[in-house]
Amino acid sequence: MVLLTLNEKQKRNEELNKEFLRRSGVNVSKCYQCGKCSAGCPVGDHMDIPTNKVMRLAQMGLIEDALKSHAIWLCASCTTCTTRCPKGVDVAKVMETLRIMAKEHGYIAEKNVDKFHSVWMGIIGNIGRMYEPALIVGRNFSTGKLFQDTSYGVPYITKQKLKLIPYKSKNMAEIKSLIAKAEAMDREERGNK
Ligand code: SF4
Ligand code: SF4
Repeated sequence: MVLLTLNEKQKRNEELNKEFLRRSGVNVSKCYQCGKCSAGCPVGDHMDIPTNKVMRLAQMGLIEDALKSHAIWLCASCTTCTTRCPKGVDVAKVMETLRIMAKEHGYIAEKNVDKFHSVWMGIIGNIGRMYEPALIVGRNFSTGKLFQDTSYGVPYITKQKLKLIPYKSKNMAEIKSLIAKAEAMDREERGNK
């Protein structure tokens, strides 16, 4: 195994770092490593590296290491970290940007989370709102875990917490146009790499 110095690693990450800074628009140098983002993160116990360490990697320009982390996929985008940060750093935006870049650059450390996102967006694109039975079935088929969480279905349905017939949004045209705009922005952003 070849061990690189910090400078060599930063050099190797130069293009990824430029892309990260441009796409996130977040000034990561403001972070002074107080750890409040990690302390308040509801999924922090499950992450391989804490949120403030992801911030440190981003600060040091070691983007490839951040892209390979599981933490960016386990992040629930709750924005607690952003709210708690005493330096006003948009930490959740950093996590989201890294997740998008990880997918595009082929570093998907949590494949099932990525599949869940795809199923989720497919349902929103088709009916404009969430339809949980389709989410569970789609997630289970795409991950190959056919019976995962199915035991929750019966009580939810009998207590009428879940509807069996999906309700389609009346504003589908507007929702489709929003998704198309977001996809166009995404294409433009990627084109500016
Ligand atoms: S809360 Fe803000 S300043 Fe503190 S470690 Fe997290 S990002 Fe850095
Ligand atoms: S946005 Fe992500 S990293 Fe930040 S507190 Fe929520 S789950 Fe944790």
